[in-house]
Amino acid sequence: MAVEKDWIEKGFIDEPVAEDINLAEEIKKMCKEKDAVIMAHYYTNAEVQGIADFIGDSLALAQKAAQTEAKIIVMCGVHFMAETCKILCPEKTVICPDLNAGCSLADSCKAEDLKAFKAEHPGYKVISYVNTTAAVKALTDIVVTSGNALKIVSSMPEDEKIIFGPDYNLGSYINSVTGRNMLLWQGGCHVHERFSVADILRLKKEHPEAKVLAHPECKSAVLALADVVGSTAVLLKHTMEHPEGEYIVATEAGILHEMRAKCPSAVFHAVQPEVIEGGKSCVCNECEYMKMNTLLKIYNSLKHEWPVIEVEKDIAQDAVKCINRMLEMS
Ligand code: SF4
Repeated sequence: MAVEKDWIEKGFIDEPVAEDINLAEEIKKMCKEKDAVIMAHYYTNAEVQGIADFIGDSLALAQKAAQTEAKIIVMCGVHFMAETCKILCPEKTVICPDLNAGCSLADSCKAEDLKAFKAEHPGYKVISYVNTTAAVKALTDIVVTSGNALKIVSSMPEDEKIIFGPDYNLGSYINSVTGRNMLLWQGGCHVHERFSVADILRLKKEHPEAKVLAHPECKSAVLALADVVGSTAVLLKHTMEHPEGEYIVATEAGILHEMRAKCPSAVFHAVQPEVIEGGKSCVCNECEYMKMNTLLKIYNSLKHEWPVIEVEKDIAQDAVKCINRMLEMS
């Protein structure tokens, strides 16, 4: 198959399709023919979650990737997730429908900067959040997700010297819960950092009975107002255990699709921070990178089996060790 120059420049395929084509059905058909599975993160669009064989958070997607027997994995999330998948399944074809689907958090930690920081702090173990590039993972001792970070850090000897990155808010939350003093990288997710105390207080005033659910990538002042702090999977589990509840949700809006599907009787209020972008005010609790996954891109990427993810052998060999350590400890 020839990859067109235009696609390479764009990082995705925007080949037009017939107007009457049912993309969801065609994708399903192609998955069968090509022995492919579609994996989608909770933050992707509802239409993408609707055609996925598996929906989950970063940890669940990594675990599922490690177990799948399919030949092709279409990872509908962001680039580092597809990379993690390729590292765990080097023999499989891993497709990322849009190579532009990056992550502000992964971008906040460059491998060369981490390497220099490690050199300044000999004797420290490096714990990295899964939202990192393969090159950063290759410099890491243990990878964690928001779903297992607390458990993994708590399992380490109390006097262990730890560098934790790149999410400052998650690291700071773990320090506060465990009483540790990990050295924290100053990175963050632009979506979760938008949620403010004022946003939460306003919603709490409007809905006094509602419980506040917050992702640990939110700032500590926001987490201090939360009834439940946890990964998307933990927040979802909490709502499923209390399906008649009312909730204020401080994380990316995509999770509401699964929460509403699993708990139709519950009432959800998304925190919708107002941000100024390009001089204009807009309400935004969405990750634009996650929303780059569309049915048309998935269809075209599966049809042409491009863009595929490759990870340099040396980097993959080092990175797989710290991901496997996480999977063993989860
Ligand atoms: S929500 Fe934040 S951490 Fe998650 S993929 Fe988007 S930018 Fe990265």
